[in-house]
Amino acid sequence: MKEIGLYIHIPFCISKCKYCDFVSFNKINDMADQYIEAVKAEIEMYSDKLSDYEVQTIFIGGGTPSILDVVKLESIINKIHINFNISKNIEFTIEANPGTLTESKLKKYEQMGINRLSIGLQSFNNEILKKIGRIHTADDFIQSYKMAKCAGFKNINIDLIYSLPGQNLEDWENTLRKVIEMKPEHISAYALKVEEGTAFEKLLDQNKLSLPSDEEDRQMYDMAIKLLGDNGIEQYEISNFSKKGYECRHNLIYWNNEEYVGIGVSAHSYINSNRYGNTMDIHEYVDLIGRRMFPIKTQESKDRHDEMVETIFLSLRLNRGIELKKFEDRFNASILDIYREKIDKLVNQGLLTIEEESLRLTKYGMDVSNQVFVEFL
Ligand code: SF4
Repeated sequence: MKEIGLYIHIPFCISKCKYCDFVSFNKINDMADQYIEAVKAEIEMYSDKLSDYEVQTIFIGGGTPSILDVVKLESIINKIHINFNISKNIEFTIEANPGTLTESKLKKYEQMGINRLSIGLQSFNNEILKKIGRIHTADDFIQSYKMAKCAGFKNINIDLIYSLPGQNLEDWENTLRKVIEMKPEHISAYALKVEEGTAFEKLLDQNKLSLPSDEEDRQMYDMAIKLLGDNGIEQYEISNFSKKGYECRHNLIYWNNEEYVGIGVSAHSYINSNRYGNTMDIHEYVDLIGRRMFPIKTQESKDRHDEMVETIFLSLRLNRGIELKKFEDRFNASILDIYREKIDKLVNQGLLTIEEESLRLTKYGMDVSNQVFVEFL
């Protein structure tokens, strides 16, 4: 049986964070019931298509899936079990925001087979949390985290953002040190990017957003790698860190350019060398599913060359890089033969290295990764 990852998008939040460009809507509105029914119907529509696959990972993301009523969440999970083959060794993640978790909810998650929590903290500084539009305080996070531990969760990710408005190196160090004290299994740390259409973009246009300099941004990144690494939470991808054995298996599917199916508004899939994305419009999504039509808006078929290049781009994000044997087994050709000249050049420039049967970025290569990626285009 082939292997696949499953993503379910729950696009509801209590309020919109100022930096957020995800497809998410304020509050559970009157669309929620219709939306949940549509998600369940889309799962059913995939039942035949995925009959040859075994689902290795499930990731319920958003939005803020933890604001969903557990009965509704359970009805989605039941549909997944009825329609798909699920691995006995499933990694099953749900994203949660501090302030939306309760003891009984967490207990129920455990009973439903969810074995990984991803909690969005972003910063330990309450002033910054307010400035970026988060609904919670650092104390809310601590409380949620402790509840999750008591409920028995042994695999918890904490999401962080750095280069936030008003943030300096000292503040970031404080966030990192406090997070390390909580002993999570996994940390994601992304630099803030001011995205189109966000409240932050407007503020930036009006010169009302004061952001750390590029140099401070770089120092914050280096500090995360060093401090987390010194405390046993090693970097394994450009922005992701974990204790040994706790790398996020779901995200590794993306970085290894393997197959996944995305269900829900704006969700993306990659199946049988086809990459496609669902509509971003929740009304259109519900309407198309109601007529038993796949709500696909964008579609691209990938040939062997596209797949090779994309595998290189994605896998080079990982510290372990491209495993030479795995690449050769997949494409029936050695990457060193196909790209010999380019690889030699990048190795000579100190951007790539070949070690332990893997081709990977050097530290310098990670800093200028786009320069490397362009070479393979
Ligand atoms: S909680 Fe997450 S998805 Fe919701 S608005 Fe904030 S960043 Fe966006």
